[in-house]
Parts: sequence; structure tokens; C-alpha cells
Amino acid sequence: MSIISINPTNGSQIKTYTDLGFEETVQKIERANTAWESWKKSTRETRNALLISMAGVLRKRSQELAVLMATEMGKPVTQGLDEVEKCARCCEYYAENAEKHLSDRIIETEASKSYVTFQPIGVVLAVMPWNFPFWQVFRFLVPALAAGNCGVLKHASNVPGCALAIEEIVRQAGFPDDVFLTLLVGSDKVSKIIEHPLIKAVTLTGSTNAGIQVATKAGSVLKKTVLELGGSDAYVVLADADLELAAESCVNSRLINGGQSCIAGKRFIIEKTVIEEFIKLFFQKMKAKRVGDPLDAATEVGPQARADLRDELHGQVEKSIEKGAVCILGGEVPPGNNAFYPPTMLINVKPGMPAYYEELFGPVASIIEAEDEADAIRIANDSIFGLGSAVFTQDIAKGEHIAATELQAGSSYVNHRVASDPRLPFGGIKTSGYGRELSDFGIHEFVNVKTVYIK
Ligand code: NDP
Repeated sequence: MSIISINPTNGSQIKTYTDLGFEETVQKIERANTAWESWKKSTRETRNALLISMAGVLRKRSQELAVLMATEMGKPVTQGLDEVEKCARCCEYYAENAEKHLSDRIIETEASKSYVTFQPIGVVLAVMPWNFPFWQVFRFLVPALAAGNCGVLKHASNVPGCALAIEEIVRQAGFPDDVFLTLLVGSDKVSKIIEHPLIKAVTLTGSTNAGIQVATKAGSVLKKTVLELGGSDAYVVLADADLELAAESCVNSRLINGGQSCIAGKRFIIEKTVIEEFIKLFFQKMKAKRVGDPLDAATEVGPQARADLRDELHGQVEKSIEKGAVCILGGEVPPGNNAFYPPTMLINVKPGMPAYYEELFGPVASIIEAEDEADAIRIANDSIFGLGSAVFTQDIAKGEHIAATELQAGSSYVNHRVASDPRLPFGGIKTSGYGRELSDFGIHEFVNVKTVYIK
């Protein structure tokens, strides 16, 4: 079987890759484990120096990597450059903080000495998506290497060039051979890879369906998983919000990466008294966004990553309209061999519509009216997902209360769009997954939290 990369801007075939047979896959897992036998003994100074070196390689190659993303999955180059910079900052964050996160913790007991130490566990399998083809991998890889683990990557089948580039970046940074290897395989091979005894744990970012399949398999062989799955983030706009700021943040959040972000705002829940004004502002800002060739520095919204995903999204829009939603912007598939979809606004969104309950993974905003503050919170929580959330209000104390205690999500922001940051834990509740990435919480997911007791 082959893995073929296709340019979503024009439907042209970029390159065909031969996927690995199972024997070659096993050889790579074994090589990664051999590398781990030495890597786990490397000093903190060595690991930190290599992470800093990797940040340098990323920055040096940023333009080329941004073009690669634009070509394979349609991300506008300016956003690709930001993504590479974020990966570099993640390297620096863990170079500066891993020692603090992983140092032994003395615990006073009756023992002469008792403490907790954090030991590496071995080779971790990462199953990753195409939407942030570098960032999603780096936010797993950097803390994994910093903790003394090694990694193998099964990347999404539409970004094989990015997958191989990451392997090369690790090598160029000077890491020992094989501490991180890309496995060019289809998703049908993942189950057998999880079974392999040298794979110690699995992390997956992607759809809820893929997460369930991987977690089910990993559970059957008792391997730990971290799952970062879909979301349908609710952005609550209260009557006392600064509507200009709220509309700006909501539009920018909805359209980041062509709307293909797990933490994009997807459901905009607006108090009745201000909904008309909010819709006007939101419409103007959505309409003003420049859609076009992702290689053009002026482009703000590129094509969707794949035509089949764009068609699926359009189906959700059509079904919502059939059930009573009103489309006031976009909503039409442009002609030609491409994966474009225009910024789209659905108003009058109600329960029972895909735009209310499902994840819309593209540039489609669902506007939902709420009677009052309590109703808005109820609607925000009326979802199977629980990844991010935001609330807009000029009453900061009220906003903080709603964010901290009312919204059911892994993170809640006040007057700001949700964004991942190496310093802050990232992950979801409900069907958005479990476990956390980034910060000290992320680096502790794949270590043996070991108790040492000396009489
Ligand atoms: P998938 O979840 O199918 O793909 C993500 C990764 O999982 C890819 O590497 C994929 O491999 C792999 N995968 C898929 N199915 C399985 C399986 N049964 N066992 C093991 N690995 C698997 O996402 P899609 O690309 O199909 O996108 C579909 C939807 O998923 C989107 O519309 C969106 O809702 C959600 N999604 C969420 C993301 C997030 O950031 N949380 C990111 C991407 C998608 P392969 O590419 O070879 O199929």
C-alpha cells in the first residue's frame, strides 16, 4: 500500500511514499528501544542542550517547513511560521523547566529517607493528526525526550512529508540515532503496533472515534493512553461584554487554521439582548477574512486539508439548514479540484441540528441564542465535548466564577480565545479525551512515578 500526499489547493498529487511493512515497523520499534537503553541514562545537561539545539534547527528551517505544511494540508504560511516558532518555544520551555518538574520529591515518613522519583518508561507511540502537523507532534515529543523516553510516530496519512521532516529535525539537532522515528504506516497497522511489547504507552490526538479504537486496544494490553480528541468549544457572550472584543476573538478563534482546530470556538452562545449587534459585528469580521492560496502571505484562510473532510463539513451545514438553521454567509462549495470552503455563519442554531451537537471541523460558526446568563451556561454544557471554553463579560469577577466553576471543559478563558501554551496544561474532559499535555502535568503522564523507601 502507498501513502499519497495531495495538495488541497489544487488537488495535485505531491508525492507517493511506500508504506512500511510490518517487519520493517517492528525493526524501527526495536531500534527506538535500543536507543532508549542509552538515552534513559543521558544527563539533564545533555538533554537540555539538545532541546535548545532543536529550537535552533526549527527556526533555521521555519520558512521551508511552513511551505511544506501549506502544500500538504493547506495552512497559510504565516500561520505555519507561527506554528514552527511555537515548537521552538516548547523546546526552550522544557530545557528550562524539566529539571524542576522531574526532580525527586522528598516525603517525610518513618523511613530514614523516602521520596518520589520520576523514571522514563521506554518507547511511546504517538498517533497524530494533520491539523497542526508539527505542533501536535512536538508537544508530545519534547517532554517525552526531556523525561528520557523515546518515541515512534504514526502521523496522519496526508502529511508524510511533515512526518519525515520531524525525524530529520531531531537528527539534525544532534540527538542520538533512533530516539525518535517516523513509521510511515496506515491506521490499520496501529493495533498491532500497540500490541508490541516494546511499546510502553500511547498518545493520540484526533477524532473521538480514532481515540476510542486506540484506547480500546491499549486497554486490552494494559498500556496507558493520553487522548486529545475533538471539541465543540462554547464561547459565551454575556450582555455586558465588550462586543467588539468578543466578536474579534470569536472570529479569530473560529477561523484559525481554516477552522480545523480542536480548540477553535465552534458554538457562540449569545445573550438575547445583544445577539443582533453581535451577529452584525461577527458577520463583518468573518466576511473581511482573505481566503486564498496558503502560499500567499496575505492569505488568512486556506483550503481545508482534504476534499473528503470538506464534503463532510458541507453535509453537516446542509443538514443543519434542513432542520431550520439559517445560513447568512458562505455555505457553498466552490467549483474546481480543491478543498476550499468559505467562512460560513449559521444563525438560529437549535438542539437537534449537527451545528448544535456535533463538531464542525472547518470555518463554520454556529450562533445560538440564550435567554440569560444561566441559560447560556446550560447550553454551553449541553455537549458531549469538554475541551476548551470562553466567556466574555466586563464583570471580571463574574467571568472568573463562570470560567472556574460553571463551564465543563479542560480549560476556560475569560475575554480571550483558548490557546495552547507550553506553560499551561492542555486537554479535555467528557468525549474530548483524558490526560494532559504540556506543563509539568504533561511531562508526568509518561513516567514511572516511583516511590523509594529506605528504612
Ligand atoms: P482521524 O482521527 O481519523 O486521524 C487522526 C490520526 O489517527 C491519524 O494519524 C489517523 O491515521 C489515525 N487513525 C484514524 N483512525 C484510526 C484507528 N482506527 N486506529 C488508529 N489510528 C487511527 O481524523 P481525520 O483525519 O479522519 O479527521 C476526521 C475528524 O477528526 C475531523 O473532522 C475532526 O473532527 C477530528 N480531528 C480532530 C483533531 C484534533 O485536533 N483533536 C485533529 C484531526 C481531526 P490516518 O491518517 O492514516 O487515517
